[in-house]
Amino acid sequence: MIIAGKFLIPRPGEVLPQGAVAIEDGRVVAVGTKDEVVRSHPSRSHVDYGDALITPGFVNYHCHLELEFCRGRVDYRGDFVEWLQRIRNLKHDLMVLPGYFPEQSVREVLASGTTTLLDHYTLEMDFDAIRAAGLRYFGFRELFDFNNHNPDLRRLREATVYSFAIHSPYTASAEIAQAAQRIASEQNTAISMHLSEMHQEIAFIDRTDPAIVDLLRRAGAYDESWQGKGVSPVRYFHDLGVLTPGSYCVHLNYALPGDVELLKGDGITHVYCPRSHAYFGHPLHPLMEYQAAGIASCLGTDSYGSNDDLSILSEARKMWEEFPALTAERVFSMFTNGGLAPLRKENELGQLAPGFLADVGVWAEPQGESFDELVRWLVTRERTLATLREGSVVHET
Ligand SMILES: [Zn+2]
Repeated sequence: MIIAGKFLIPRPGEVLPQGAVAIEDGRVVAVGTKDEVVRSHPSRSHVDYGDALITPGFVNYHCHLELEFCRGRVDYRGDFVEWLQRIRNLKHDLMVLPGYFPEQSVREVLASGTTTLLDHYTLEMDFDAIRAAGLRYFGFRELFDFNNHNPDLRRLREATVYSFAIHSPYTASAEIAQAAQRIASEQNTAISMHLSEMHQEIAFIDRTDPAIVDLLRRAGAYDESWQGKGVSPVRYFHDLGVLTPGSYCVHLNYALPGDVELLKGDGITHVYCPRSHAYFGHPLHPLMEYQAAGIASCLGTDSYGSNDDLSILSEARKMWEEFPALTAERVFSMFTNGGLAPLRKENELGQLAPGFLADVGVWAEPQGESFDELVRWLVTRERTLATLREGSVVHET
């Protein structure tokens, strides 16, 4: 099959006018101008989308699909720990149970051009249904257990569809965090964690915090011997050895003295969730400090608990408003190939090039011609004309 359109962006920084991509068995076999690709693959059927922009399928680097039930139900009242407790209560009251299929969220993600999703989960959703709907799903089981100092490694090894997420430094014990990291490195998988997200977390890791103590006590998970560690959350996790080139550190809303150097040295990948950051009213994100240090950053939507929708382009648009100095190339990379190292998928996802998986977004009636103009237009879009995963249509408008 050959797909063609008025413009094709195969990777950050490049535009092909009258571009086309040839696909065979779910992979890209050729990329070029329509004339070149049709000439080199004359026997292929082709779909010419006409006045359209063709892009790689996008990557949403952080989500919680299971929080679909929060949609329109959870407001923020100025206290993060109270918000977290309300979501826990709501989940209990609504009886969100294993086998849950967050269908609306999955359809919405595909419609907004995302084909690969990195997701934190706490209950066994209907993962087969999520994948059958067309999404490439990397599920990270969230680990809590702040007072568990002796995790059962054998049970943990069997407990995930892809890998682990350490919920946070204030909800998982040191031993749990280290066990998750150890299993992930044995299995060559990435690991994901919320880190340095908010003030109460920073206070708790430094010297303890009454609101978090209360949250943990109510969950029956507090460790009465906790005294605080006198360090930042980043240094605490660094010292435990859980920050590695396989780590996604989600949020990093606060960079305390010394943190940037540690994060850079450990080779982590940062996931920024601009609208979730704004929802909680944090001060300006230290993204540009991370950029200046050469830390890889990419984008996530986070969940319906703190966001209005799950479109990664809306995150890019919000980020660009906050940081207008970012180049179009940088912005585009942050929802395509800019954060693939922990997944070890740099040679399969996030670009349209021979050998890569043929995940594609098709966007109607593009405005502009240069890469910069097209990306500025793209981040204002909501729905694809078509989304393809490995050459098969998984959404059509
Ligand atoms: Zn999150």
